[in-house]
Amino acid sequence: MTIFEQPLVKAVGAKAAKRLAALDLETAGDLLRHYPRRYAQRGELTDLDSLAEGEYVTVLAEVEKIQGRKISKRPGYLLEVTVTDGRGLLTLTFFGKGAYIPERELPPGTHGLFAGKVSFFGSGRHLKRQLVHPEYKPLAGGDLAGAAREFAEELIPVYPAAKGVTSWQIADCVRILLDTADLGDDALPEHVRRRHRLIGLSDAYQGIHRPRDMAEAGRARKRLKWDEAFVLQTALARRRRAAAELAATPRPPAAGGLLAAFDARLPFDLTEGQRAVGDEIAADLARTHPMHRLLQGDVGAGKTVVGLRAMLQVVDAGGQAALLAPTEVLAQQHHRSIVAMLGPLAQAGQLGGAEHATRVALLTGSQGAKARRAGLLDAASGAAGIVVGTHALLQEHVQFADLGLVVIDEQHRFGVEQRDALREKATGGRPHVLVMTATPIPRTVAMTVYGDLDTSALTQLPAGRSPIATHVVPSGNRAYWDRAWERIREEAAKGRQAYVVCPRIGDEEPSSSPDDVPEDGPEDDGARRPPLAVLDVAPKLTEGPLHGLRLDVLHGRMHPDDKDAVMRRFAAGELDVLVATTVIEVGVDVPNATVMVVMDADRFGVSQLHQLRGRVGRGRHAGLCLLVTDAVEDSKARERLDAVASTLDGFELSRIDLEQRREGDVLGESQSGRQSSLRLLTLLRDEEIIKEARAEATTLVEADPELRDHPALAAELATLVDEERAEYLEKA
Ligand code: ADP
Ligand code: MG
Repeated sequence: MTIFEQPLVKAVGAKAAKRLAALDLETAGDLLRHYPRRYAQRGELTDLDSLAEGEYVTVLAEVEKIQGRKISKRPGYLLEVTVTDGRGLLTLTFFGKGAYIPERELPPGTHGLFAGKVSFFGSGRHLKRQLVHPEYKPLAGGDLAGAAREFAEELIPVYPAAKGVTSWQIADCVRILLDTADLGDDALPEHVRRRHRLIGLSDAYQGIHRPRDMAEAGRARKRLKWDEAFVLQTALARRRRAAAELAATPRPPAAGGLLAAFDARLPFDLTEGQRAVGDEIAADLARTHPMHRLLQGDVGAGKTVVGLRAMLQVVDAGGQAALLAPTEVLAQQHHRSIVAMLGPLAQAGQLGGAEHATRVALLTGSQGAKARRAGLLDAASGAAGIVVGTHALLQEHVQFADLGLVVIDEQHRFGVEQRDALREKATGGRPHVLVMTATPIPRTVAMTVYGDLDTSALTQLPAGRSPIATHVVPSGNRAYWDRAWERIREEAAKGRQAYVVCPRIGDEEPSSSPDDVPEDGPEDDGARRPPLAVLDVAPKLTEGPLHGLRLDVLHGRMHPDDKDAVMRRFAAGELDVLVATTVIEVGVDVPNATVMVVMDADRFGVSQLHQLRGRVGRGRHAGLCLLVTDAVEDSKARERLDAVASTLDGFELSRIDLEQRREGDVLGESQSGRQSSLRLLTLLRDEEIIKEARAEATTLVEADPELRDHPALAAELATLVDEERAEYLEKA
């Protein structure tokens, strides 16, 4: 056991360990990686005006005044200590017996650290900030005359603290650890350290907890970021390597089969990108190791055709392919459109079925028993070359005769565990896996969260695609507003269709289905009115501005059959307007739809809006997307909407999205509140380190897959894999 795994009880004693437990720190490693939030410079006081109510703070200030008095109320004695940063004031309040010691220890002129929860009292000009019964620590030295210069410049680490454990108590425990513990071997190999000019392990921990100056703290941070990146990248490199060792049945392309027949009846030319990625995939499928490929392509880039062509290659080679969609609506749509695209090629055993024809089965969680039984039978017997479904496909009793390929559409809702569960379904080796996502993934995220996959991208949209114009519509402006509905009427008059998207369903149940929760959306703000709801907006439109148009609703809590029926009618042009929640966010493809009005658009995340708007402008006609909001100009919410309106570049938008979300959200922070293993590394700013660490890790794993020559690294990895893999990779 290394010092990192040692329980704190043993490392710093029971009493301190109990305090530190309030911060979820259990082992010496947890404590050593509980890094200072910032460093206070002795003599440089905290800006007291910046303290926010309710915040737990640690401040460095000077006692200005101290006043104790008897009071008639129960504790009998009240001590008010006023501290200052030279301008602002903060009141420290102590009552009763608890006031005697601070009264002695905090004479005016004392510099000290004070920690507690900020509360406000009084109002207006008399508003005062106070800490009630704060913890405090008088500091010797400070600005006092005679204090040694170097002492006056010492940096004081300020740790994230909590009730019952102060920043300086944490610092004391860290000091004990650093002074007594042997940190063991460095997991970062020496040649890597040398090449990237990284300081040693114990220097790094000294440097981040007790830096002599900010430059030293900086060098420590860089080194420790490297640790995080390198261990993660080693784990991913090993995962890739392990996958490459697995056996898979090769499914090489065959001449004169279904794929060739399909290509011949395709009504359009494949784009260059579709062709190139198709070739990559075709080659992957022909190998004796399973493909693990991520296909990125902005909405409308034409990923489905690429996935379908891969599936047909596998069917031609005698295997089966499964296509997984995140929602029932999408699964049904995929089923419908694949059957349509294949035509006679999907009519095996039916009149008019082509030679070599196969069957496309649908399996969803809620379909009727009879349909489900038929689907299960087709999958198990091998009669269905292609099986389309939702998560239900993952259930154990679904059997395949010979599953050769799994295509996962809109990956962001599937985790690694689910990917694994599906791979288990294959007999005679693992199936090949293709993950398709429309959420453009910044490079750093691709290298971390998806780091175990090979990646391809479709960067151009198919020719003839019409641009989408996006405008922000302030809901306070009646004229704009009316114009929005008028636009829908104009489009309907030309035989085209529209979506109206609302953030909420509106049937007043406390929780809504996962389909309808904006996942990267709005910040909570209790005071705001509830977001607009499908079930309120639809009747108002029918009776008001969209009177006479054929309108229906779609949301996540409708019966799947009803959802399917509505989608069918919309796709068939029997409806003019669909009022829906984000169930239509992913993949829904109705080329005749040209307008989308998003109500309360500020309640959605940037990437989500981009996804939503991708539902229009998919055909020959230009698309229009109106983002309706009551967010005021210059607000953060409005800025996000303006960003969406200003560009169609999904990568740029996902970068903005990433910037606005906390790192933990991207990596899937654990629910327990324990931090993920990435504490210092940020995906946005540390691309260079991530890239370099990935290259180093890959080389190292290639040379020494079992990490025999790197026992310290192997030990780090074991901890990471045990504790955290599930936590941040699973939710990818
Ligand atoms: P996404 O990448 O968002 O899943 P789809 O696969 O749904 O996009 O494709 C969007 C639309 O573009 C579909 O109607 C599809 O038939 C069409 N399409 C795909 N490839 C091409 C192409 N090469 N030329 C013209 N249209 C295409
Ligand atoms: Mg799609």
